[in-house]
Amino acid sequence: MKPPVCVICDVRFKPQEEGGVVNFAKRKADLEWDKKNIVEHPPYSEWFCGKHFDYAESLSNLTINIAMPKIKERFI
Ligand SMILES: [Zn+2]
Repeated sequence: MKPPVCVICDVRFKPQEEGGVVNFAKRKADLEWDKKNIVEHPPYSEWFCGKHFDYAESLSNLTINIAMPKIKERFI
């Protein structure tokens, strides 16, 4: 896994206190990735700080390539 730095605001945070990893819906390529990799950061997950986690989590039923532009649009 990558260190806990919010993908939206670039702030490093403590996941024991706020925010966390959002796992988005998996694309076909992500399912393939899962079979091969166990230690690297999955391509369908990102860190979000406390400010951005809830909205990101609410879109986690989408795949990351669909969800990320929506999340960025809302906060940037
Ligand atoms: Zn953030």
